[in-house]
Amino acid sequence: MSSQPGFPAFAIARLPRIEFGAGALRKLPTIAAQYGKRLLIITGASSFTASEAGKTLFNALQAAGFTWEIRRVTHEPSPHWVDETVAGLQGDSFDAVIGIGGGSPLDAAKAVAGLLKPGNSVMDHLEGVGSELPYQGSSTPFIAVPTTAGTGSEATKNAVLSVSGEHGFKKSFRDDKLVAEYAIIDPDLLATCPPAQIAANGMDAFTQLMEAYVSTRSNPLTDALALAGMEAVRDSLLAFYRDPADSVARGKMAYASLLSGICLAQTGLGSVHGVVAPLGAFHPIGHGVGCGMLVTEATRLNIDLLEARDADSPALAKYTAIGKLFRGRSHVDPVGARVFVIHTLETWAKHLHLPRLSDFGVTEADIPKLVVNSRGSSMKTNPVELTDSDIANLIRACL
Ligand SMILES: [Zn+2]
Repeated sequence: MSSQPGFPAFAIARLPRIEFGAGALRKLPTIAAQYGKRLLIITGASSFTASEAGKTLFNALQAAGFTWEIRRVTHEPSPHWVDETVAGLQGDSFDAVIGIGGGSPLDAAKAVAGLLKPGNSVMDHLEGVGSELPYQGSSTPFIAVPTTAGTGSEATKNAVLSVSGEHGFKKSFRDDKLVAEYAIIDPDLLATCPPAQIAANGMDAFTQLMEAYVSTRSNPLTDALALAGMEAVRDSLLAFYRDPADSVARGKMAYASLLSGICLAQTGLGSVHGVVAPLGAFHPIGHGVGCGMLVTEATRLNIDLLEARDADSPALAKYTAIGKLFRGRSHVDPVGARVFVIHTLETWAKHLHLPRLSDFGVTEADIPKLVVNSRGSSMKTNPVELTDSDIANLIRACL
């Protein structure tokens, strides 16, 4: 007797406790107080600390009797920055680490929170680089407060660290123990985002949702969340880009970004994130804008290859479902629905004024090195296996 396939088994790894909503930042002092009164705050260049929201927060922390150190990260954090910061703080004892900002400050804070107590170099643990020793902990409680809607770092267990230039890399320090204790998502903090950042972060969030949805490790729970996230992006990305004061649109994008982080931490990603890592390491290309430049052609390639090789693939049916979601109706033929996915991504790229790889000086001559370095963990969960020449064609189409 053949066994019937039942409902798929799945596992969901650790998530932060989540406080979501306009004004949620006001809860930070109460949440932090359960760990103690000595804080390490890691933030970006200066925009948050100089903002009204920043001043209000620091006044509230002072009134509640907290003391703190602030460290700023002005670009994507490097292993050297993490090690120097941890070394400079030995001898002090922190009850919690607060990361406030975009993906870079959150990843920086996540890595520092992991290493403050053990005190060793982050290079000991970085994936694909060095000795890759297992991380034993213990970590300092970490609270993530995103001020952009993009990376989903507030919900993930990895910190991406970068070394740029000729011998550059972007690799993750990854462990369940690094997941934030709390993610505080206050969409009001997004009101001051410049449009180019909204575009880049929004395309990152969308790419993460779509790649999680079609990932070879997707499951019914992440599928439901990814679809809800993509629907929120459909309804709000362009509106938020045109008007950051649109509180409904920015709430939906903050929600989509959170869902993207929850999903990717469970499912892994795909070819866009595979290629964007070396792209950002060797060229001055930010993560989000890199995703935005690659996602249309990467999706076209995945769909073309699946149609040619594996017409019964569940991932192909999922691309059809995304097309129906974008269309807002279910009576669309499958091929037409998938064409509509590409059409929508092209429309977004145009309206968001996304650049092309050649605008950053990437040329045909750079392609072989990008291909060789694109096979990190993300590429392994792409729904269709890509050859080196497939990846080269994908990059070439984005020049
Ligand atoms: Zn991403």
